[in-house]
Amino acid sequence: MSAPRDRVPLAARVEQLLAADGPLPIVAAGDPVLRQPAEPFDGQLDAGLLARFVEALRVTMHAAPGVGLAAPQVGVGLRIAVIEDPAPVPQEVRQARGRVPLPFRVLVNPSYEPVGAARAGFFEGCLSLPGWQAVVARPTRVRLTGSDEYGRAVDELFSGWPARIVQHETDHLDGVLYVDRAELRSLSANGAVAQRWAQPTPEAAARELGFALPQ
Ligand code: ZN
Repeated sequence: MSAPRDRVPLAARVEQLLAADGPLPIVAAGDPVLRQPAEPFDGQLDAGLLARFVEALRVTMHAAPGVGLAAPQVGVGLRIAVIEDPAPVPQEVRQARGRVPLPFRVLVNPSYEPVGAARAGFFEGCLSLPGWQAVVARPTRVRLTGSDEYGRAVDELFSGWPARIVQHETDHLDGVLYVDRAELRSLSANGAVAQRWAQPTPEAAARELGFALPQ
C-alpha cells in the first residue's frame, strides 16, 4: 500500500515530534489531518520508534487529561490510538453510564461494528475541540477488531463507556469527529455541563435543551 519512499516522511515526522520531551501538542479541529482517513499501520515506524510514539501518546493523554488519544490528534495520520480510563466517578454515574475502569491499551488498525441494536446517549468531549461537550447516541456494545502494538490480533467485545471510548477513537482514524454524530442542540460549554448537566444521564438536558435520546 505505501511504497518505501512514502514511509520516510511519517517516520521523520514522528522523530521530529519526539525530539521535544513531554506531552505532544494536540491538534485542534480545523486541521485537515483530523478529517482525512488515517493510513493503516504496516511498519511505517520501526518497533523502537513505534514504542516511543505510543509512550508519547500515553504521556500526552495523561497530561491532557483524557481517556483516549488518536495519532491524528498529534498530527500523525496513522491508524493508532491509545485508551485508558481510571473512571474516577461516583457509583451512580458508573452504573448509569457503564463507566468502568479501562486499563491502558494501544489500538492499531482498529475497526468496530455494533453488536445488537441498543444505543445510549451521553455527553462526550474531545481534546481536539476543547471547551465543549455534546450528547452522542452510540451503540452500547461493539465488536472491535484490529491488533495491538505488537501486531497481535484483537477481536473483542466492548460495552458501556469503554465501548464509547473505542468508537470515539476509532472514528478519529476515519476522519470523523464526535460532533458529526452529536445532537447539536445538546452542545454545551464545559462550565454549563459541570453546573447543569452533571447528572448521571442527560435526560434533564434533553428536556431543557430540546433534543432526543435513544429509546
Ligand atoms: Zn476526540
